[in-house]
Amino acid sequence: MSGKNVTDMVLADAAGIARAARILESGGLVAVPTETVYGLAARADSADAVAKIYAAKGRPDVNPLIVHVRDAAQAERFGEFSGAARRLAEREWPGPLTLVVPRRGDSGLAPAVTAGLPTIAIRAPQHPVMRALLQAVNFPLAAPSANRSGFISPTCAEHVLASLDGRIDLVLDGGPCEDGVESTILLIDTAGVWYELRPGPIWLPALNDIHFDPHKPVEIRRAKEERGIEAPGQLASHYAPGKPVRLDASEAEPDEFLIGFGAIEGDCTLSASGDVDEAAARLYACLHEAARAAHPRIAVAPVPEAGVGRAINDRLRRAATPAS
Ligand code: AMP
Ligand code: MG
Repeated sequence: MSGKNVTDMVLADAAGIARAARILESGGLVAVPTETVYGLAARADSADAVAKIYAAKGRPDVNPLIVHVRDAAQAERFGEFSGAARRLAEREWPGPLTLVVPRRGDSGLAPAVTAGLPTIAIRAPQHPVMRALLQAVNFPLAAPSANRSGFISPTCAEHVLASLDGRIDLVLDGGPCEDGVESTILLIDTAGVWYELRPGPIWLPALNDIHFDPHKPVEIRRAKEERGIEAPGQLASHYAPGKPVRLDASEAEPDEFLIGFGAIEGDCTLSASGDVDEAAARLYACLHEAARAAHPRIAVAPVPEAGVGRAINDRLRRAATPAS
Protein backbone atom coordinates (compact mmCIF):
# COMPACT_ATOMS: atom_id res chain seq x y z
CA MET A 1 0.00 0.00 0.00
CA SER A 2 1.33 3.37 -0.88
CA GLY A 3 -0.32 5.48 1.80
CA LYS A 4 -3.66 5.66 -0.03
CA ASN A 5 -6.88 5.12 1.80
CA VAL A 6 -9.08 4.45 -1.21
CA THR A 7 -8.60 1.40 -3.42
CA ASP A 8 -9.09 1.76 -7.17
CA MET A 9 -11.52 -0.60 -8.87
CA VAL A 10 -11.07 -1.10 -12.63
CA LEU A 11 -12.63 -3.32 -15.26
CA ALA A 12 -10.69 -6.54 -15.83
CA ASP A 13 -9.99 -5.72 -19.49
CA ALA A 14 -6.54 -5.80 -21.15
CA ALA A 15 -5.58 -2.39 -19.71
CA GLY A 16 -6.76 -3.35 -16.23
CA ILE A 17 -4.87 -6.64 -16.33
CA ALA A 18 -1.68 -4.86 -17.52
CA ARG A 19 -1.98 -2.38 -14.64
CA ALA A 20 -2.52 -5.23 -12.17
CA ALA A 21 0.58 -7.02 -13.49
CA ARG A 22 2.72 -3.90 -12.91
CA ILE A 23 1.43 -3.53 -9.35
CA LEU A 24 2.15 -7.18 -8.62
CA GLU A 25 5.66 -6.91 -10.11
CA SER A 26 6.44 -4.09 -7.73
CA GLY A 27 5.19 -6.10 -4.74
CA GLY A 28 1.65 -4.71 -4.38
CA LEU A 29 -1.73 -6.33 -3.65
CA VAL A 30 -4.48 -6.84 -6.25
CA ALA A 31 -7.89 -8.45 -5.76
CA VAL A 32 -8.64 -10.72 -8.72
CA PRO A 33 -11.74 -12.68 -9.74
CA THR A 34 -11.40 -16.47 -9.87
CA GLU A 35 -14.08 -19.06 -10.61
CA THR A 36 -14.42 -19.72 -6.84
CA VAL A 37 -14.21 -16.36 -5.00
CA TYR A 38 -12.16 -13.15 -5.42
CA GLY A 39 -8.54 -13.74 -4.40
CA LEU A 40 -6.14 -11.24 -2.86
CA ALA A 41 -3.03 -11.75 -4.97
CA ALA A 42 0.63 -10.97 -4.32
CA ARG A 43 3.80 -12.37 -5.87
CA ALA A 44 4.55 -15.59 -4.03
CA ASP A 45 8.34 -15.24 -4.43
CA SER A 46 8.54 -12.03 -2.38
CA ALA A 47 8.54 -12.13 1.43
CA ASP A 48 7.53 -8.44 1.56
CA ALA A 49 4.62 -8.86 -0.83
CA VAL A 50 3.34 -11.96 1.00
CA ALA A 51 3.64 -10.17 4.36
CA LYS A 52 1.29 -7.49 2.98
CA ILE A 53 -1.42 -10.12 2.37
CA TYR A 54 -1.36 -11.19 6.04
CA ALA A 55 -1.37 -7.54 7.16
CA ALA A 56 -4.24 -6.43 4.87
CA LYS A 57 -6.42 -9.41 5.84
CA GLY A 58 -5.47 -9.41 9.53
CA ARG A 59 -4.73 -13.08 8.92
CA PRO A 60 -2.89 -15.07 11.60
CA ASP A 61 0.56 -15.91 10.20
CA VAL A 62 0.15 -19.61 11.02
CA ASN A 63 -2.43 -19.92 8.22
CA PRO A 64 -0.80 -20.92 4.92
CA LEU A 65 -1.87 -19.51 1.53
CA ILE A 66 -2.77 -21.21 -1.74
CA VAL A 67 -0.26 -20.63 -4.57
CA HIS A 68 -1.84 -20.05 -7.99
CA VAL A 69 -0.02 -21.17 -11.13
CA ARG A 70 -0.67 -21.39 -14.88
CA ASP A 71 -0.57 -25.17 -15.16
CA ALA A 72 0.86 -28.45 -13.86
CA ALA A 73 4.27 -27.79 -15.44
CA GLN A 74 4.72 -24.54 -13.52
CA ALA A 75 3.42 -26.20 -10.32
CA GLU A 76 6.18 -28.83 -10.48
CA ARG A 77 8.76 -26.10 -9.92
CA PHE A 78 7.35 -25.53 -6.43
CA GLY A 79 6.00 -28.90 -5.26
CA GLU A 80 6.84 -32.61 -5.48
CA PHE A 81 4.05 -34.37 -7.37
CA SER A 82 3.44 -38.09 -6.87
CA GLY A 83 1.96 -40.07 -9.78
CA ALA A 84 -1.62 -39.59 -8.55
CA ALA A 85 -1.15 -35.89 -7.80
CA ARG A 86 0.40 -35.32 -11.23
CA ARG A 87 -2.44 -37.14 -12.96
CA LEU A 88 -5.01 -35.02 -11.13
CA ALA A 89 -3.14 -31.77 -11.85
CA GLU A 90 -2.78 -32.55 -15.54
CA ARG A 91 -6.39 -33.61 -16.01
CA GLU A 92 -8.34 -31.40 -13.60
CA TRP A 93 -6.53 -28.09 -14.05
CA PRO A 94 -7.44 -25.42 -14.74
CA GLY A 95 -10.18 -25.82 -12.16
CA PRO A 96 -11.26 -25.46 -8.53
CA LEU A 97 -9.09 -28.28 -7.14
CA THR A 98 -6.22 -27.39 -4.77
CA LEU A 99 -3.57 -30.05 -4.22
CA VAL A 100 -1.42 -30.14 -1.06
CA VAL A 101 1.96 -31.70 -1.93
CA PRO A 102 5.47 -31.67 -0.39
CA ARG A 103 7.14 -28.31 -0.97
CA ARG A 104 10.36 -28.34 -3.00
CA GLY A 105 13.43 -27.12 -1.12
CA ASP A 106 14.44 -25.02 -4.12
CA SER A 107 10.97 -23.52 -4.74
CA GLY A 108 12.28 -19.97 -4.25
CA LEU A 109 8.95 -18.97 -2.65
CA ALA A 110 8.58 -16.80 0.43
CA PRO A 111 8.56 -19.08 3.53
CA ALA A 112 5.45 -17.27 4.84
CA VAL A 113 3.41 -18.60 1.89
CA THR A 114 3.33 -22.03 3.51
CA ALA A 115 3.52 -20.69 7.09
CA GLY A 116 6.63 -22.79 7.62
CA LEU A 117 4.94 -26.10 6.63
CA PRO A 118 6.91 -28.67 4.59
CA THR A 119 3.89 -28.87 2.24
CA ILE A 120 2.45 -26.41 -0.26
CA ALA A 121 -1.14 -25.91 -1.48
CA ILE A 122 -1.28 -25.24 -5.25
CA ARG A 123 -3.88 -24.85 -7.97
CA ALA A 124 -4.24 -23.58 -11.52
CA PRO A 125 -7.42 -21.46 -11.63
CA GLN A 126 -9.79 -21.45 -14.56
CA HIS A 127 -11.12 -17.87 -14.57
CA PRO A 128 -9.97 -16.05 -17.74
CA VAL A 129 -8.90 -12.93 -15.81
CA MET A 130 -6.74 -14.83 -13.33
CA ARG A 131 -5.34 -16.90 -16.19
CA ALA A 132 -4.45 -13.79 -18.18
CA LEU A 133 -2.76 -12.30 -15.13
CA LEU A 134 -0.71 -15.45 -14.53
CA GLN A 135 0.41 -15.29 -18.18
CA ALA A 136 1.34 -11.61 -17.84
CA VAL A 137 3.75 -12.13 -14.91
CA ASN A 138 6.68 -14.49 -14.48
CA PHE A 139 6.00 -15.57 -10.90
CA PRO A 140 3.20 -17.53 -9.16
CA LEU A 141 0.57 -15.70 -7.13
CA ALA A 142 -0.26 -16.34 -3.49
CA ALA A 143 -3.96 -15.57 -3.17
CA PRO A 144 -6.27 -16.22 -0.22
CA SER A 145 -9.83 -14.93 -0.36
CA ALA A 146 -9.99 -11.12 -0.64
CA ASN A 147 -11.69 -10.35 2.69
CA ARG A 148 -10.70 -9.52 6.26
CA SER A 149 -9.77 -12.74 8.05
CA GLY A 150 -12.80 -14.57 9.45
CA PHE A 151 -15.44 -12.57 7.54
CA ILE A 152 -17.67 -13.42 4.58
CA SER A 153 -15.81 -14.31 1.37
CA PRO A 154 -16.19 -12.01 -1.68
CA THR A 155 -17.88 -13.15 -4.89
CA CYS A 156 -18.03 -9.74 -6.58
CA ALA A 157 -15.79 -6.66 -6.67
CA GLU A 158 -18.05 -4.68 -4.32
CA HIS A 159 -17.70 -7.38 -1.63
CA VAL A 160 -13.92 -6.90 -1.76
CA LEU A 161 -14.21 -3.15 -1.20
CA ALA A 162 -16.69 -3.72 1.64
CA SER A 163 -13.88 -5.17 3.77
CA LEU A 164 -10.54 -4.17 2.17
CA ASP A 165 -11.07 -0.63 0.78
CA GLY A 166 -7.94 1.40 1.49
CA ARG A 167 -5.94 -1.68 2.50
CA ILE A 168 -5.00 -2.95 -0.98
CA ASP A 169 -3.80 -1.34 -4.24
CA LEU A 170 -6.39 -2.42 -6.82
CA VAL A 171 -9.53 -4.47 -7.45
CA LEU A 172 -10.01 -6.01 -10.90
CA ASP A 173 -13.76 -6.14 -11.52
CA GLY A 174 -14.59 -9.28 -13.49
CA GLY A 175 -18.24 -9.61 -12.42
CA PRO A 176 -19.66 -12.28 -10.10
CA CYS A 177 -17.82 -15.58 -9.51
CA GLU A 178 -19.41 -18.60 -11.15
CA ASP A 179 -18.75 -21.36 -8.59
CA GLY A 180 -19.11 -19.15 -5.52
CA VAL A 181 -17.40 -21.35 -2.90
CA GLU A 182 -13.69 -21.90 -2.29
CA SER A 183 -11.78 -24.70 -4.02
CA THR A 184 -11.84 -28.31 -2.88
CA ILE A 185 -8.54 -28.99 -1.05
CA LEU A 186 -7.06 -32.48 -1.41
CA LEU A 187 -4.02 -33.92 0.34
CA ILE A 188 -2.70 -37.33 -0.79
CA ASP A 189 -0.42 -38.87 1.85
CA THR A 190 2.55 -41.17 1.19
CA ALA A 191 0.32 -44.22 1.65
CA GLY A 192 -1.93 -42.93 -1.15
CA VAL A 193 -4.83 -42.07 1.17
CA TRP A 194 -6.85 -39.02 0.07
CA TYR A 195 -7.79 -36.42 2.69
CA GLU A 196 -10.40 -33.81 1.86
CA LEU A 197 -9.11 -30.78 3.78
CA ARG A 198 -11.99 -28.61 2.56
CA PRO A 199 -15.13 -29.53 0.56
CA GLY A 200 -15.67 -27.39 -2.53
CA PRO A 201 -17.00 -27.39 -6.10
CA ILE A 202 -15.15 -30.62 -7.00
CA TRP A 203 -16.62 -33.81 -5.55
CA LEU A 204 -13.64 -36.10 -4.90
CA PRO A 205 -15.29 -39.53 -5.41
CA ALA A 206 -16.06 -38.44 -8.99
CA LEU A 207 -12.33 -37.86 -9.64
CA ASN A 208 -11.58 -41.40 -8.59
CA ASP A 209 -14.26 -42.69 -10.98
CA ILE A 210 -13.02 -40.57 -13.87
CA HIS A 211 -9.26 -40.88 -13.53
CA PHE A 212 -8.67 -44.00 -11.43
CA ASP A 213 -10.61 -47.18 -10.77
CA PRO A 214 -14.35 -46.91 -10.04
CA HIS A 215 -14.32 -50.56 -8.94
CA LYS A 216 -11.50 -50.02 -6.45
CA PRO A 217 -12.27 -46.56 -5.10
CA VAL A 218 -9.53 -44.86 -3.08
CA GLU A 219 -10.34 -44.14 0.51
CA ILE A 220 -11.34 -40.51 1.00
CA ARG A 221 -11.23 -39.23 4.56
CA ARG A 222 -12.22 -36.00 6.17
CA ALA A 223 -8.99 -34.47 7.43
CA LYS A 224 -10.21 -33.09 10.71
CA GLU A 225 -11.38 -36.37 12.19
CA GLU A 226 -8.55 -38.48 10.80
CA ARG A 227 -5.42 -36.33 10.97
CA GLY A 228 -6.28 -33.43 13.24
CA ILE A 229 -5.12 -31.06 10.49
CA GLU A 230 -6.25 -27.54 11.25
CA ALA A 231 -6.48 -25.09 8.38
CA PRO A 232 -8.15 -21.68 8.60
CA GLY A 233 -10.83 -22.73 6.15
CA GLN A 234 -11.56 -25.43 8.71
CA LEU A 235 -11.69 -23.29 11.82
CA ALA A 236 -14.99 -23.75 13.61
CA SER A 237 -15.89 -20.07 13.15
CA HIS A 238 -15.27 -18.52 9.74
CA TYR A 239 -17.20 -16.70 7.00
CA ALA A 240 -18.96 -14.89 9.87
CA PRO A 241 -21.53 -12.16 9.10
CA GLY A 242 -21.15 -10.53 12.54
CA LYS A 243 -24.56 -11.54 13.91
CA PRO A 244 -26.16 -14.80 15.08
CA VAL A 245 -27.04 -17.31 12.34
CA ARG A 246 -29.70 -20.03 12.77
CA LEU A 247 -29.62 -22.96 10.33
CA ASP A 248 -32.35 -25.28 8.97
CA ALA A 249 -35.03 -22.62 9.43
CA SER A 250 -38.42 -23.18 7.79
CA GLU A 251 -39.59 -19.64 8.57
CA ALA A 252 -38.24 -16.42 10.05
CA GLU A 253 -38.69 -15.26 13.63
CA PRO A 254 -39.80 -11.58 13.72
CA ASP A 255 -36.24 -10.20 14.08
CA GLU A 256 -34.57 -12.53 11.56
CA PHE A 257 -33.46 -11.94 7.98
CA LEU A 258 -34.33 -15.21 6.23
CA ILE A 259 -32.13 -16.63 3.47
CA GLY A 260 -34.42 -18.94 1.50
CA PHE A 261 -33.91 -22.02 -0.64
CA GLY A 262 -36.44 -23.80 -2.90
CA ALA A 263 -40.00 -23.52 -1.56
CA ILE A 264 -38.85 -21.47 1.47
CA GLU A 265 -38.88 -17.95 0.04
CA GLY A 266 -37.08 -15.70 2.51
CA ASP A 267 -35.92 -12.07 2.23
CA CYS A 268 -33.53 -13.27 -0.45
CA THR A 269 -33.05 -16.74 -1.87
CA LEU A 270 -30.08 -18.98 -2.58
CA SER A 271 -32.08 -20.59 -5.39
CA ALA A 272 -35.84 -20.36 -5.88
CA SER A 273 -35.72 -23.50 -8.04
CA GLY A 274 -33.77 -25.47 -5.41
CA ASP A 275 -30.61 -25.76 -7.53
CA VAL A 276 -27.48 -26.32 -5.37
CA ASP A 277 -25.07 -24.95 -8.01
CA GLU A 278 -27.01 -21.69 -8.17
CA ALA A 279 -27.12 -21.69 -4.35
CA ALA A 280 -23.32 -21.98 -4.17
CA ALA A 281 -22.90 -19.09 -6.61
CA ARG A 282 -25.27 -16.92 -4.52
CA LEU A 283 -24.22 -18.05 -1.01
CA TYR A 284 -21.83 -15.24 -0.10
CA ALA A 285 -23.93 -12.53 -1.81
CA CYS A 286 -26.89 -13.62 0.36
CA LEU A 287 -24.71 -13.59 3.50
CA HIS A 288 -23.40 -10.10 2.62
CA GLU A 289 -26.99 -8.89 2.11
CA ALA A 290 -28.06 -10.43 5.42
CA ALA A 291 -25.08 -8.85 7.19
CA ARG A 292 -26.03 -5.39 5.82
CA ALA A 293 -29.74 -5.75 6.68
CA ALA A 294 -31.19 -4.05 9.77
CA HIS A 295 -32.31 -7.39 11.26
CA PRO A 296 -30.21 -8.39 14.30
CA ARG A 297 -30.26 -12.09 13.43
CA ILE A 298 -30.08 -14.32 10.34
CA ALA A 299 -31.90 -17.57 9.58
CA VAL A 300 -31.12 -19.91 6.69
CA ALA A 301 -33.39 -22.49 5.05
CA PRO A 302 -32.09 -26.09 4.83
CA VAL A 303 -29.87 -26.90 1.83
CA PRO A 304 -29.48 -30.54 0.70
CA GLU A 305 -26.06 -32.21 1.08
CA ALA A 306 -26.03 -33.26 -2.59
CA GLY A 307 -23.06 -32.21 -4.76
CA VAL A 308 -21.75 -28.77 -3.87
CA GLY A 309 -24.43 -28.68 -1.16
CA ARG A 310 -21.80 -30.29 1.12
CA ALA A 311 -19.53 -27.28 0.65
CA ILE A 312 -22.45 -24.87 1.19
CA ASN A 313 -23.42 -26.57 4.45
CA ASP A 314 -19.78 -26.63 5.59
CA ARG A 315 -19.55 -22.84 5.10
CA LEU A 316 -22.97 -22.23 6.71
CA ARG A 317 -22.03 -24.25 9.80
CA ARG A 318 -18.89 -22.14 10.24
CA ALA A 319 -20.83 -18.91 9.62
CA ALA A 320 -23.22 -20.02 12.39
CA THR A 321 -20.44 -20.79 14.90
CA PRO A 322 -19.74 -17.79 17.16
CA ALA A 323 -16.11 -16.61 17.22
CA SER A 324 -14.54 -17.73 20.50
P1 AMP B 1 -8.15 -19.30 1.81
O1 AMP B 1 -7.29 -19.01 0.63
O2 AMP B 1 -8.30 -18.19 2.78
O3 AMP B 1 -9.46 -19.88 1.40
O4 AMP B 1 -7.40 -20.42 2.63
C1 AMP B 1 -6.54 -21.34 2.01
C2 AMP B 1 -6.75 -22.69 2.56
O5 AMP B 1 -5.70 -23.58 2.13
C3 AMP B 1 -6.70 -22.70 4.05
O6 AMP B 1 -7.71 -23.55 4.57
C4 AMP B 1 -5.32 -23.23 4.32
O7 AMP B 1 -5.12 -23.74 5.59
C5 AMP B 1 -5.18 -24.28 3.26
N1 AMP B 1 -3.79 -24.63 3.06
C6 AMP B 1 -2.86 -23.88 2.47
N2 AMP B 1 -1.66 -24.50 2.50
C7 AMP B 1 -1.84 -25.67 3.14
C8 AMP B 1 -0.97 -26.76 3.49
N3 AMP B 1 0.31 -26.75 3.18
N4 AMP B 1 -1.51 -27.80 4.15
C9 AMP B 1 -2.83 -27.80 4.47
N5 AMP B 1 -3.69 -26.81 4.15
C10 AMP B 1 -3.20 -25.76 3.50
MG1 MG C 1 -10.81 -17.27 3.15
